Amino acid sequence: MTNWPSNYDTAWTLASAIERSGVGLHSGQINRVRLQPSERSGYWVGWLDAPALPLIRLGPQLVADTKLCTALALGQRRLATVEHLLGALAGCGVSQAELWVEGEEVPLLDGSALPWVEAIGESGLRNCGVRPAPALPADPLLIHQGSGFVLAQPANSLRLSAAVDYPQPAIGQQFFSLELTPGLFVEAIAPARTFGFREQVDQLLAAGLIQGGALDNALVCDGDHWLNPPLRFADEPVRHKLLDLLGDLALVGLPRAHVFAYRGSHGLHTALAAAIATVQVDGPHAGMAAAPLPRTLSTANVTTSTLPSPARP
Ligand SMILES: [Zn+2]
Repeated sequence: MTNWPSNYDTAWTLASAIERSGVGLHSGQINRVRLQPSERSGYWVGWLDAPALPLIRLGPQLVADTKLCTALALGQRRLATVEHLLGALAGCGVSQAELWVEGEEVPLLDGSALPWVEAIGESGLRNCGVRPAPALPADPLLIHQGSGFVLAQPANSLRLSAAVDYPQPAIGQQFFSLELTPGLFVEAIAPARTFGFREQVDQLLAAGLIQGGALDNALVCDGDHWLNPPLRFADEPVRHKLLDLLGDLALVGLPRAHVFAYRGSHGLHTALAAAIATVQVDGPHAGMAAAPLPRTLSTANVTTSTLPSPARP
């Protein structure tokens, strides 16, 4: 399928069911996901091994853990590493779908959203009418944690920007920004793979994490070089950060906003989704400031002409 929607103004679901299976990054287990059309807006999760359980609509209030991936608590069960699949659905313009899952983790596939995009392309899309976008406060919304922050400013369309700043020379400082459309998502963001660092790998394996990580589903950075080149883009890491941002925003639906993430993380992204949904979230977001910027800090009021002259000794 190459005729992707031209923007995010219309609601779309899948035209038919499609299934993928593969290893989970953290568990190392083989998991399966069947994507199906939905008549209701939003993303709904059901269980292939327990089809009688009611489907659960995904939202930022379900976020249980944001260490290394975004994991959701769904009733008595847990579903980890949802971000690349949700990023693929939202990025391609699919605003409503059912996700039937076997296992507790979404398959990592090649570490990017591309295999999910190909699955969605095989299924095709069905128009579901006008799509309402989640409302943002009139003032910019800022959330920060450590040296990272996310900033969302209402706009007429969706612009995503991200900056990363790593001490490893192979990555260093990268910036990427685009006015997102489904076509641009497929071309510029979906193929960007997840990445990690050689020094973390042994540590994470020892902690029982990334059991399914391998050199064919994650880029591994070793200081000034990559263990498994070639990269798909010279700036593949920052593009992958945009994919993660998009996948986490999909929990609330794509806003009409310019969203900028500096040293973003799943914690920051999902805190922003929660702030947009105006839901209170405990756990992974505890301690994060999430508030509209006061008007006195908006750029309209901070100009050289209104700043007081510096005091002279
Ligand atoms: Zn990712």
